[in-house]
Amino acid sequence: MSYDDSNIFARILRGEIPCQKVFEDDHVLAFNDINPACPVHVLIIPKGPYRSITEMAAQGKDEELAALLRALGTVAGMTGVADTGYRVISNTGDHGHQEIPHLHFHLLGGRPIGRMVSRVDI
Ligand code: AMP
Repeated sequence: MSYDDSNIFARILRGEIPCQKVFEDDHVLAFNDINPACPVHVLIIPKGPYRSITEMAAQGKDEELAALLRALGTVAGMTGVADTGYRVISNTGDHGHQEIPHLHFHLLGGRPIGRMVSRVDI
């Protein structure tokens, strides 16, 4: 399968769908999640056409990779969760329950979030 540029985040990047922008630079866009799970719930996405960390790590330029991690830190600072704590999640593929096939990081905070994942027998 290849990257599907009709996905919602590709359309946001092209300006076809509005977003509540939090941060932008040459390589990254960050915007509020439309259905927030926490008081702070920002999605941080690369501008390049990558579906997952796996793809971006294999195909992305070093400057894109660096920009993404720096943006996570910048947005954590801007939104005030850097001091109180936060969680970063990137749902990937079927088992990761990824809904939108463009790499994105959920930055969640503003309240205690609880355990990392629900525990089940494995
Ligand atoms: P997932 O792919 O499961 O990691 O989650 C996709 C996330 O995108 C969900 O938290 C949605 O609420 C969010 N989302 C879907 N459409 C939009 C949109 N137009 N603007 C902002 N967030 C969105």
